[in-house]
Amino acid sequence: MARVSSKKIYGVLGYPARHSLSPQMHNAAFRFLKINAEYRIFEVKPEELDTFVNTLAEENIFGFNVTIPYKERIMDFVKPDRVSSYLRQIKAVNTVVFQDGVWKGFNTDISGFKRDLDERGVSVLGKSAALLGAGGAGRAVAYVLANNGAKDITVYDVDAVRAKSLIELINGLFFGFKINYVTEPGQLDIPDKDILVNATPVGMKESDPIPVEPEVLHPGLFVYDLIYNPAQTKLIRIAKDKGAKTANGLGMLLYQGALSFEYFTGMEAPVELMRQALEEGVKGL
Ligand code: NAP
Repeated sequence: MARVSSKKIYGVLGYPARHSLSPQMHNAAFRFLKINAEYRIFEVKPEELDTFVNTLAEENIFGFNVTIPYKERIMDFVKPDRVSSYLRQIKAVNTVVFQDGVWKGFNTDISGFKRDLDERGVSVLGKSAALLGAGGAGRAVAYVLANNGAKDITVYDVDAVRAKSLIELINGLFFGFKINYVTEPGQLDIPDKDILVNATPVGMKESDPIPVEPEVLHPGLFVYDLIYNPAQTKLIRIAKDKGAKTANGLGMLLYQGALSFEYFTGMEAPVELMRQALEEGVKGL
C-alpha cells in the first residue's frame, strides 16, 4: 500500500505496554525538532500480533520499539537479512524501522546499557556478575558484559531453558568466556560478585517481592535494576541500605530511546530534553 505523506506514526509494541514512558520522551523530541510525527503505545495481545504487523502501512507506521514479550517473536517479521548477524544470534530486536522500502531490525538496548554504564563511570572489566533474567533485556546485558571484559557471569531465570539458551548464545559469540546458569537464585553466589543486574520484570509492581534474598546484598556490589518505573524498586532500596552502589534503568531507557530516535528520523536526538521528559514521568524520582 502506498504511504500517505501525513503525520508519521511511531510507537512501542508490547503487552503490557501501558507503563511505558517512551511516548513522553519521543513526543517531546518530535515537538522540539518540529517533526510531524507522533509516538504511541501499541498494546497488542499475542493473538493480535499478526494483524498488527499486517496493518502497519495503512496506519502510516514507520517504526516502533519492541518490549515484553515480543523482542524475539518480532524477528519472524523482520527478514533475517535485515537484522545483523549477532542480533540474529542474541535474538533480541527492540527497534524496527521502515527504511528503503523494507523493515529493518536493530537492538538499541545494548548500546543504551553500555552508554549508561560509561556515564556512571562503571567499568565491567575483570568483574564478576550475577544476572537475573535471560529474556530480551538479559541477553543484551550479557552481551555488554561479555563484550567489555567481565570476568564471568552467572545467570538465573525462572525458565531454565531460556537461561541455558543464553549460555549457548554467549559461548557461541565469545569463545572461552566463563558463563553458567543456576536453577535457584540462592546459587548465584552474590556475596562473591561485583555486579548484580535485574533484567526481570520483578519489581515493577508494588506487591512484587525482592528477587534475591536481602542478606546476600553487600557494600561491594553494584546493583543495576533495569526497571525505571518505579524509580526505586525494593531491590534498589534494600541494596542502598546495605551500602551498595545502585542504578535504575532510566539511563538505559534514555540512551536506547535516543538511538532509536536517530534510526527513526535520521536526526541527532535531543538527549537532555528527552531525559527531562522521562524524569517528569517517573514515580518517586
Ligand atoms: P522478558 O523477555 O519477558 O524476560 C524476562 C525474563 O525474566 C523471562 O525469562 C522471565 O521468565 C524471567 N523471570 C521472571 N521472573 C523471574 C524471577 N523472579 N527470577 C528470574 N527470572 C525471572 O522481558 P525483557 O524484555 O527482557 O524485560 C525485562 C525487564 O527489563 C522488564 O522490567 C523491562 O521493562 C526491563 N527493560 C528495561 C529497559 C530499559 O531501557 N531500562 C530495556 C529493556 C527492558 P518468564 O517469562 O517465564 O516469567
